[in-house]
Amino acid sequence: MSTHRTLLACCLLAALASAPLAIAETTSQAMPETMDMLRHAIAAQTVEGKDQVPAFARYLAGKLESAGFAKSDIEIIPAEHTAALVVHYRGSDKNLKPILLSAHMDVVAANPKDWKRDPFKLVEENGYLYGRGVADMKTNVIALIETMMRFKREGFVPKREMILVFSGDEETDMASTRELAKRYHNAEFLLNADAGGGTYDAKYRPVIYKIQAAEKTYADFRLTVTSPGGHSSEPEPPKNAIYRLAKALDKIAAYQFPVQHNEITLASLKATGEHSSGPIAAAMRAFAANPNDAKAAAVLSADPAYVGQIRTTCIATMLDGGHALNALPQRADANINCRIFPGTHIASVQAALARVIDDPGVEITVRPPPPVESPASPLRNDLVDAVTATLHERFPGVAVVPGMSAGASDSMYFRNAGVPSYGVDPTFSKPNDTFAHGLNEKLRASEVPAALDFWHSLLTRLTK
Ligand SMILES: [Zn+2]
Repeated sequence: MSTHRTLLACCLLAALASAPLAIAETTSQAMPETMDMLRHAIAAQTVEGKDQVPAFARYLAGKLESAGFAKSDIEIIPAEHTAALVVHYRGSDKNLKPILLSAHMDVVAANPKDWKRDPFKLVEENGYLYGRGVADMKTNVIALIETMMRFKREGFVPKREMILVFSGDEETDMASTRELAKRYHNAEFLLNADAGGGTYDAKYRPVIYKIQAAEKTYADFRLTVTSPGGHSSEPEPPKNAIYRLAKALDKIAAYQFPVQHNEITLASLKATGEHSSGPIAAAMRAFAANPNDAKAAAVLSADPAYVGQIRTTCIATMLDGGHALNALPQRADANINCRIFPGTHIASVQAALARVIDDPGVEITVRPPPPVESPASPLRNDLVDAVTATLHERFPGVAVVPGMSAGASDSMYFRNAGVPSYGVDPTFSKPNDTFAHGLNEKLRASEVPAALDFWHSLLTRLTK
């Protein structure tokens, strides 16, 4: 019995070893199938309220089965009106923890009346693909699925297992994400195709590539002041809820949270500073060399695009108060939206707001849903090296740097559950050019084969 098994194992191994050579595929061979699936993906209206995610997940599952995935390696997990898709690509070494590959199948709503073209039809024009989700993020959903299918057809056997963990409501409630993070937290790390990515200059030359290794914590605080009210002809200004709230808001407007830094922000500012010019670039380099440089911190803090990289920020975003034109207000409240530096607790931000406002009559509460604190993921040389080598196949010498984003991607729940997570969207775009979440969302058509190349090459490097 055991001899037979050994013989069988040996022949199977030999067959597997020779298989990749026999049926290796090229990216151009994979492109027609990829574009077919992308067309289907854009037509699937996986927006909130239409409940189309489960059907889209079943479509992707069918494609994977047709490429040779066992039914038992694919799971669709229902979550309220949506679903998550989990796919196991088994590895040969069971002692190695898996790598998670994260993406989301849902998209932000799009009203066809407001779009120049039908948002749910993939259109190619002047080198661009148009449609809801081409940038955020159905191109990567399909590129990852195609890469798994291609690996399977090629007979690729990774040492380390890969698990696709696709959520179905990343843009809204993230219920499916929470379920995935609960089930799959025992992983080596997670790669998120929905964060990070490359930047082109005006002439489509690659400038820099960012691996997202941290994101800020999102939190909303409600400030509430109540007062006795009464007839507006009998004022008592010190007790007036609107005046007291206005004073509190003035104090918050004038307050700056302390300067903070971590290895990711320093590396990011250093590299960005080296690749740009002017006073802001000089401040980035100075801050990266010495985070105690108050002058550099002041220059960065004066720029809305960079203040969030070195501080927690809290800003008034909504206001509500009073109940009649001729009555003293009984109540006034405001929303304060905070983007909290990784590693800083919500409670300490709330305490800072209370200290700054210095009026016990102003009640400060955290608005639901409860904020999710997620620590920065430690930089891993193996990962940075593999991403760099992969990107250099397309753009030799392009700078690859870690970065922190304002966040709330699926990575937030995985980082919170202890899985180091890295945003490695393979696509490049010009700043503010894709209109993700907006009208006429687009992506350069050349990013599709580039994404196929990237995932095939990167995942081979990381798992072989
Ligand atoms: Zn997204």
